[in-house]
Parts: sequence; C-alpha cells; structure tokens
Amino acid sequence: MSLTTPALAGKLAGLQSSAIRDLLKLTARDDVISLAGGLPDAALMPRERIAVAAEVALRDPAVLQYTESAGWPALREVIAARESAKIGRAVPVAEVFITHGSQQALSLLAEVLLDFGALVIVEDPAYVGALQVFRAAGARIVAVPLDGEGMRIDLLEDLLAAGERPAVVHTVSTFHNPGGVTLAPQRRRRLAELAQAHGFWVIEDDPYGELWFDAPVPAPVASYSPQVIRLSSVSKILSPALRVGWLIAPEKVCRAVELLKQGADLCGSALTQQITATLLTDTDWLATHVDSIRTTYGTRARALTTALRTTFADRLHCTDPTGGMFIWAEFLDNTDTSTLLPTALESGVAYVPGAAFAFADTTPNTLRLCFTTSDEATLAEAVARLVKAASA
Ligand code: PMP
Repeated sequence: MSLTTPALAGKLAGLQSSAIRDLLKLTARDDVISLAGGLPDAALMPRERIAVAAEVALRDPAVLQYTESAGWPALREVIAARESAKIGRAVPVAEVFITHGSQQALSLLAEVLLDFGALVIVEDPAYVGALQVFRAAGARIVAVPLDGEGMRIDLLEDLLAAGERPAVVHTVSTFHNPGGVTLAPQRRRRLAELAQAHGFWVIEDDPYGELWFDAPVPAPVASYSPQVIRLSSVSKILSPALRVGWLIAPEKVCRAVELLKQGADLCGSALTQQITATLLTDTDWLATHVDSIRTTYGTRARALTTALRTTFADRLHCTDPTGGMFIWAEFLDNTDTSTLLPTALESGVAYVPGAAFAFADTTPNTLRLCFTTSDEATLAEAVARLVKAASA
C-alpha cells in the first residue's frame, strides 16, 4: 500500500517563522548583551503584588471556572472605565472584549474583518506579529512608510486616490514597534476622517502608550471615530504572562469576535483577569508602579542614545525615544546590518536588522535596539561592542 502524506492548508504557503523569534534563539547566550528581544524587564514586574492579588482572588472558586468568552465581567468594567478616560467618550462594557494578549485580538480581528484577498495597509517597517496574522488571513498587504511623525498619511491618501480600497489599516500609533515614532495628532485625526470617508476599519494597536517618559501621549486615533478599533494589553505595564489584552470595538464586531473566540479557546483565564482587575483598580499603587517603569526605561533610553551618538557620531542616526521600548537606528555609511550581525554576535552584542521588519524594499542599513532589559552600564558596553564589530 502506498502512503500519501496529508497536506497542510494551502493558505499556509509562504508563511514564515518570525525572523526575530529565530534570531532570539541565537542571542540567548550569556556572553551576548541582547538588545534584540522586545521584552519588558522582568525585574520590574510586580511579582509580590500579583501573588497577593492571586491569593485574594483564589478565595472565590469562580476564578478557577470557565468564564464568559468576552471576558471576566469585573475586568471588562475596569477596562471600560480606563478606555473611556483615554478615548474621551463613555465606552460601554458591551464594546470591551478581553483577549489572550492583544496579539489574539489581532488574530481574531483578521478573521472577522478580512475576506481572502482583502487589502490591508500596514506600516513599513511593520510590527511583524501583525504581518504574520494578515498573511495567514490571506490578505493582500500594501505598506505605507513611516517618518518621524508616524505613518505617512499623505501616501495613504495617494493610495486611496489611486483607487485602492483597504478593508483595514493597521497602525502602531504610539511608540512604534520597531520604528520608535508616534503618530502626530493631526495625522491621527486625518486617518480617522479617511476611514469614515472611504469605509475602512483602522486597527489602532497600542500596547506601549502607557510607557511615556516625559509627557503623556496624544489622544488615541480611536477618539476621532468609532471605526477605529483599539487594542491594548497589560503586557508592558504588569506582565505578559497574565496574557490579558483587549479590543474596544462596536458591538457587532465584538459579537463576531465572540463567536471566533469560542472556537479558538472558549474563554480566557478568569484567574489572571481577576488579578489584573485588582491591580488596575488599585490606582495609587498602579500610578507609582507605572511611574517607576517610565523612569527606568527613560533613563535607559537616554543612556543608549547618548552612547550611540558619542560613539558613532555622524556614522549613525538614531531616533530620540519619548516612550516605549525601542530605538530605530540607521547607519549613514552603507553598513549592512544583516551582514554585520554575525560579527556583532561574536563581539557579544545582538540587535535586530531592520530587514526583519521591512515589508517592501528595505534600506539594509537600519536596526532596532531594545533598551528595556539592560542597565546604563550594560547599554554603554553594548554600544562599545557594536562599534568594535562595525569597525572590524
Ligand atoms: N502589538 C504590538 C505592536 C506589539 O509590539 C506586541 C508585542 N510586543 C503586541 C501587539 C502583542 O503583545 P501582547 O499580546 O502581549 O499584548
């Protein structure tokens, strides 16, 4: 009898593992300072506070039970109140849907909003987790470049004028991953206007907005139109292990997401959602906690930019982060960062070449540096190793 190997679904053709995830495996060596991973600092995660909240939560047997697919009611209420304050309108609980991190929100939304072949507009460089989701959904993807003020909305307008009809525009509006930049207020308003005029959804993917250093961030794109679906999570302010994210969307979208969530995993964890609700409602504690993350990341970001500028002078341009976790840098002398990487690893420093985030043509001389998990002295050492590698 001949054996015929069953096939995988055709839509998986062309899907690749994230280059960054593959790279992270190589950089997890003790002798390498890794500025490659996009991880929040585990030392700043409130382990003791989480343990106390868990202890209290576990007194209620319901936290160990299945819960509603749309989320643990107490958490949905807290998120509704917090998002109402951010968006500047009363967000009803029915428009709050809790997901397994904001990544699951992206994945469920892709299924809900995209027919096969539908057009999705992303930013270039792009958040690779979004690219993976949109590719898996069989979308046609077009990228619009970023500049210092976020997505080039003028170029999006050109695409619309040329007859392109996106179903979705995806933007990491604040402290972009990987670009580090924030969408300017007038561009936020214009993007929302375009969504209304041309009938597309905007997914405002905002997991970093709380991590501002000196000044709070502009009003969300979602504050300008209900056609903007907002995504966020507690991964960067509490812990990614809670796997608590959410989307804010019109009820009909939430109801469709609910059907798919039932098929995906029935529901999230009532336990981690109750822990999250407790921590988010302890507002005095939360303010102090988030403030200390901001201060630490701000100090590290400044240390890294200062070291880069002092060491590389005119050879490298880098963004001035005002929040978030990343610096985007560009060699001005044609150094190819993919080619440089093996030498950099040998010298004991890791970063992600910009090519890993590029959608279309890329400038091969860009790189993303994450400043969250190393102290100032380690960051200075990382830059010293990088310049050694780049001068070899
Ligand atoms: N969106 C963006 C832009 C991200 O960078 C990330 C992860 N780093 C996510 C979404 C997903 O994060 P989480 O699922 O932990 O909320």
